[in-house]
Amino acid sequence: MADVHNKATRSYNMSRIRSKDTKPEMLVRKFLFANGFRYRLHNKKLPGKPDIVLPKYKTVIFVHGCFWHGHQNCRYFKIPQTRTQWWTNKIDGNIVNDQKAVKALKGAGWKVIVVWGCELKPDNKNTTLSGLKEAITGK
Ligand SMILES: [Zn+2]
Repeated sequence: MADVHNKATRSYNMSRIRSKDTKPEMLVRKFLFANGFRYRLHNKKLPGKPDIVLPKYKTVIFVHGCFWHGHQNCRYFKIPQTRTQWWTNKIDGNIVNDQKAVKALKGAGWKVIVVWGCELKPDNKNTTLSGLKEAITGK
């Protein structure tokens, strides 16, 4: 019984890690909406499929998980001890893709904002979100 429960909990957690509507992204979306910003989500036509697109401000926002996107010098980014090479390749690939997307978007005249998961922890999310507002409006 206990095992079954643990298994279910584990796969639930895994699905959450993989999910597009991750909690940090939801935080940003809720904040933007509450502040009157209107946006589109996961625009596949734009390089890197930005999580949030604000057409009015010609701005895109990526909300990056520190692990999957290899946030450098971040305590939430640690390559696992097992299958280390595989993970290194995987994360490095993500970083390269992210850099390409940012370059292409900027080249097309978009303002690109990256918000990291660790910047949305309870102790610093308010600072991050008010900074985000300024970054979008330029005020
Ligand atoms: Zn981080």
